[in-house]
Amino acid sequence: MDAYIIDAFEFCRLKEQREGDIAVTDLPRLADETVDRSGSLHWHLVGGSNSHGHPQMQLSVQGGVRLVCQRCMKPLDFSIESSAVVVLAPDEASADAIDEQMAEDAVEVIVGSTSFDIRQLIEDEALLAMPLSPRHAVCQDQVSLPAEPAPEKESPYAVLKNLKK
Ligand SMILES: [Zn+2]
Repeated sequence: MDAYIIDAFEFCRLKEQREGDIAVTDLPRLADETVDRSGSLHWHLVGGSNSHGHPQMQLSVQGGVRLVCQRCMKPLDFSIESSAVVVLAPDEASADAIDEQMAEDAVEVIVGSTSFDIRQLIEDEALLAMPLSPRHAVCQDQVSLPAEPAPEKESPYAVLKNLKK
């Protein structure tokens, strides 16, 4: 039995909880975004139902990955800390209907399944938490980069000001 495959509807009905650690290498789409595929994510999934009576799952994901800084192209340690609530619908048509009903809530409606792969959910959540263009707050060799000699005489305060813009 694959520990990541659950009956999502039963999981919610029985208000089950599950948690674990998953290596970044086991999440191929996430691994592709990292420098070295190192690290792991801790995840925690809680089943239940929302105020409309729809089954829902709350997922939280935490961990560290190494990305590439888009300014200096060096590795950048990034912490993922994210959580989301997903509402389960039995099929696509119901998903659209539930989506409309809950338009004011910041939740995602997905089609549930009796063989639901938690890995996809964990990976989606981690990917959503990733910055579009990761950068160090201050790159280590920003001033000594040979490609950018111009700002050498600028005062560090002016550089900081520009960074904030
Ligand atoms: Zn950098």
